[in-house]
Amino acid sequence: MTLLGDAAHPMGSAMGQGANTAFEDARVLAHCLTHSATVEEAFTNYEKERIERTTIIQTRSAEGEKRYYQTNNSQQRNTDIDFNDWLYSYKPFAGAIAI
Ligand SMILES: Cc1cc2nc3c(=O)[nH]c(=O)nc-3n(C[C@H](O)[C@H](O)[C@H](O)COP(=O)(O)OP(=O)(O)OC[C@H]3O[C@@H](n4cnc5c(N)ncnc54)[C@H](O)[C@@H]3O)c2cc1C
Repeated sequence: MTLLGDAAHPMGSAMGQGANTAFEDARVLAHCLTHSATVEEAFTNYEKERIERTTIIQTRSAEGEKRYYQTNNSQQRNTDIDFNDWLYSYKPFAGAIAI
């Protein structure tokens, strides 16, 4: 058994990433099911690819409300720019399996 979408990583609302990450999950899971020898291997590869990324996004979403009240200094802006680049340039299996 495996999980995707809100069942796997319920998100806070601050970043609007709940549905987006559910679509990413579905795309990666479909790829893994197509390119793995067994369902178990597919689920393992899928979870390896998705858990770290969705944990980061889930944590940032949970912190999102607090971040609205942080000082808008240049270090904060740089962090957000780096994070947004990472968030929106996702290439599943980058450096391993092309998707
Ligand atoms: C107000 C609001 C605004 C949002 N805005 C955004 C946004 O701007 N951007 C964004 O990316 N995300 C947003 N989200 C989050 C997004 O809606 C969810 O993250 C996304 O819908 C999760 O998709 P899912 O398929 O995992 O779950 P769901 O969409 O919840 O789908 C689960 C489905 O399973 C069904 N179900 C439940 N139990 C059973 C059962 N026992 N048997 C059969 N079926 C069952 C449910 O009826 C439902 O249709 C928002 C959410 C809310 C509430």
